[in-house]
Amino acid sequence: MKHGSQIALYCPVWKMFVKMSKNGTMGCSPVVQSGVFPKGWESEIFELVEIKVNSYALWSPVWKMFVKMNNNGTLGCSPIVESGIFPKGWESEIFEIVEIKENLHAFWSPTWKMFIKMNKNGTMGCSPSVERGIFPIGWESEIFEVVVVRPNLKGVQSITLSPKPLKIERNTEKIDEKALRAAKKEEEKNLKEREKEQEKLRKEEEKRKEKEAELSKHKLKSSRGEIYCVFCGMFKSRTHVVDYCSGRINDHNYVFMKDKKDRWELLCNKCGKSRSYAAEYCS
Ligand SMILES: [Zn+2]
Ligand SMILES: [Zn+2]
Repeated sequence: MKHGSQIALYCPVWKMFVKMSKNGTMGCSPVVQSGVFPKGWESEIFELVEIKVNSYALWSPVWKMFVKMNNNGTLGCSPIVESGIFPKGWESEIFEIVEIKENLHAFWSPTWKMFIKMNKNGTMGCSPSVERGIFPIGWESEIFEVVVVRPNLKGVQSITLSPKPLKIERNTEKIDEKALRAAKKEEEKNLKEREKEQEKLRKEEEKRKEKEAELSKHKLKSSRGEIYCVFCGMFKSRTHVVDYCSGRINDHNYVFMKDKKDRWELLCNKCGKSRSYAAEYCS
């Protein structure tokens, strides 16, 4: 990573400089017809930080934030980085610089595939998404003049902007087709993912129902001449009528035990309660 020149970005079509505000928003300076960078302005100055070949970040020496592109097509700022040293793993703050013609450049995010764009109303935003290296003919709001405000700062060799201009697409129809194909592919992918998700949910629901069905079954046992359900204590003759066992889910285990008056009675050998408590949790 190299720190390079401090630059300002001037949009020749809207005649404003790109500006960072202290509150972490991106906007534009007042109109400057001449394109000459006014003395004393600070919020419009960005330090070019080289991340790797042709990949740069734009750091504001005054507000200590990097210009950041958001997935939703807005332009904003990173958290404050006092040192200006580009944090590992950040992606939305990286831009590839595309040379349109001499000293006119566009800034493309390899992560979000959009160009930085200045709007006529003085706001900043992003272009529609386009594939790597394609700058559509006729676009103007995405072209910036790079004005070097302070060259060779910190004694570091200044950065040469994009020595090899990226390919410029000549046929706009082609671009639309490409974008369309990409969008269609994305849509198909999303649809498949949604179907997968639904299938997963369906299977989970099935499993849940199976488990529920299992939990509602009586389990018959023969003891002392009676056949009854060990979970709810219901006699076999009744289990044909009531086929839902409320005892299994509540974890009871009914056995014949002698009560205080020395009579055989079905009681849960865990909680000691009678069958009338089968629908309550064994405790
Ligand atoms: Zn039962
Ligand atoms: Zn019990």
